[in-house]
Amino acid sequence: MLLGMSACARDKAVKADDQPKATSTTYLPTSLDEQPVPADAGPLPAIDANRAMQYVKEIVAFGPRPIGSPNHKKLEEYIYAHLKGDQVEDDAFTADTPEGKFPVRNIIAKFPGTRDGIIVIAGHYDTNYPLRNTAYVGANDGGSSTAILLEIANQLRGKKRDGYSIWLVWTDGEEAIKRWSASDSLYGTKHLAEKWEKDKTLKNIKAFLLADMIGDADLNIDRDTNSTPWLASVVYQAATRLGYQSHFFARTIAIEDDHLPFVQRGVPCLDLIDLDYGYGNVFHHTPQDTTDKLSPKSLQIVGDVILETVQMLDKMK
Ligand SMILES: [Zn+2]
Repeated sequence: MLLGMSACARDKAVKADDQPKATSTTYLPTSLDEQPVPADAGPLPAIDANRAMQYVKEIVAFGPRPIGSPNHKKLEEYIYAHLKGDQVEDDAFTADTPEGKFPVRNIIAKFPGTRDGIIVIAGHYDTNYPLRNTAYVGANDGGSSTAILLEIANQLRGKKRDGYSIWLVWTDGEEAIKRWSASDSLYGTKHLAEKWEKDKTLKNIKAFLLADMIGDADLNIDRDTNSTPWLASVVYQAATRLGYQSHFFARTIAIEDDHLPFVQRGVPCLDLIDLDYGYGNVFHHTPQDTTDKLSPKSLQIVGDVILETVQMLDKMK
């Protein structure tokens, strides 16, 4: 993913003569207060964060996992092995890239609900292509998103869903092959969004939640201006119910990621991403992106907030 050129730091600076007010919401961007969301009295979600962390370690052990590589194929098989008995489909095609043709495969697991409509929870599983011949293993960038989706599948499996259907999507070909641009990036989701537009699936998607780089021990989920404001509001309220709101939305930036092809087609989207991985994002796309920088607690926070968000969306009009 890429930080937009329009990125800025804080929402607004406090004027020197303006004392902070003693209300609980002064630090919030105003648009987060616009959408009233019904309070959720349901059970608090609790993913198994140690199991999710174990998945990250096993995924990283395959080595670099760029599209077209044998390690990528091994990871595909690993994901399928963890979805045995689930309703699984794929969206496989050949992508044209600046380095030639590559096989790309989005993997989709469907958990049907009682309510008409779909909530998509997505995250990419491929790793950076230009770093394929280095020690780069993408523990956070690629590993954490793959693992959190596997753990969310564990939480959904075997339970009756009294709400929207949930489709988990392990997206592929998120990373650029040469240099990030509109054409050289997001190969998998561009294909999937186009396919779902043609077969009319898109109009049935109530929300598209994306997780990317969510394992950083120092977790600060950015507020992405390309995402949908009302959905950010729901996510923030979900985080607040769980007591995790201090990890959310301190910084506002524009992020280019797998949600864009869906944003462009009018689907409500929210990118859950911490793009400050190491001071000044120094671990991002370097061989320093290893499991020792991650924390099960961060996986817990993001996994639980996603599930709480789903519970809230289930109840919304
Ligand atoms: Zn990346």
